[in-house]
Amino acid sequence: MVRIGMDVGGTGIQMGVVDDQGRILEKGAVVTRTDLPFPEQIAQMAECALDTLRRSGYGLDDLLSVGAGVPGVADQRTGIIPLCTNLGWHNVPFRDELRKHIDKPIFIDNDATVAGLAESIAGVSAGTSSSVFITLGTGVGGGIVINGRVWSGAHGIGSEIGHMTLELDGEPCTCGNRGCLERYCSATAIIRMAKERLEFYPDSLILEDCGGDTSKINARMVFDAAKKGDPLGEKVFRRYVLFLSQAINTITAILDPEMFVLGGGVSKSGAFLLDAVRAEVPKYALFKDAFPLPRIELARLGTDAGIIGAAMLQ
Ligand SMILES: [Zn+2]
Repeated sequence: MVRIGMDVGGTGIQMGVVDDQGRILEKGAVVTRTDLPFPEQIAQMAECALDTLRRSGYGLDDLLSVGAGVPGVADQRTGIIPLCTNLGWHNVPFRDELRKHIDKPIFIDNDATVAGLAESIAGVSAGTSSSVFITLGTGVGGGIVINGRVWSGAHGIGSEIGHMTLELDGEPCTCGNRGCLERYCSATAIIRMAKERLEFYPDSLILEDCGGDTSKINARMVFDAAKKGDPLGEKVFRRYVLFLSQAINTITAILDPEMFVLGGGVSKSGAFLLDAVRAEVPKYALFKDAFPLPRIELARLGTDAGIIGAAMLQ
């Protein structure tokens, strides 16, 4: 028996037929067409999914379920996606619409949540009974897995850890609040924090790297500068690590998970980031030295995590 996983993104939708071990047997993709009415977008996805299933050598009788990870809030109870700004979706009946084409159990969840689930089945957190996945990309997302099942709360916003408040009067956030984790630990935040301080560091490597054009500054440039000992790069990096470590400590106080998994584009800085976070977290550990620290690891599955995790939703 197989399952289909869909990784719904703002520019493309990747999908795969996945076996019960979390292995991808066949892949497919379709371009995201936000210009089309919602039912037509779903019809295209369904067509691609059925085509991918056919190419995998399996048929509808072998298909257990279809899962989708979306870059927004998904309400598994109702099958409705209340909010997915990248695709311009507001309160769309995703499950009901997709079921018109594929009459199988259909599951939806947030993309960071499904990536966390994938890691807990076929990746770095496999074998743990509780883990929290933190995706450090353009934004910051979270995925909570407890006893093999995802936890997304009563309304689908239960793992929006990017919007936990870290500074009461902090940076304004897209969610309407201030001082959210995402304002300090996303790639966007790294760029902002570097630009804010650039005038005090006219000799910064970052300025050299972007050729004097500050609009070209990206997160990798800032962290690369930090690696080379550039004072501005280091300042931003230390602030980044401080906020991320505080967030990890706060989540530990609520969930006490066995493992934190760091994924997303910023996590590609690898051991440089991982070692710094592992060194910082113990400073704020609860009841110091009385309990083991949570393990902190880098994600292992890369871009396939979205497909695998979506397929494994149930
Ligand atoms: Zn926010």
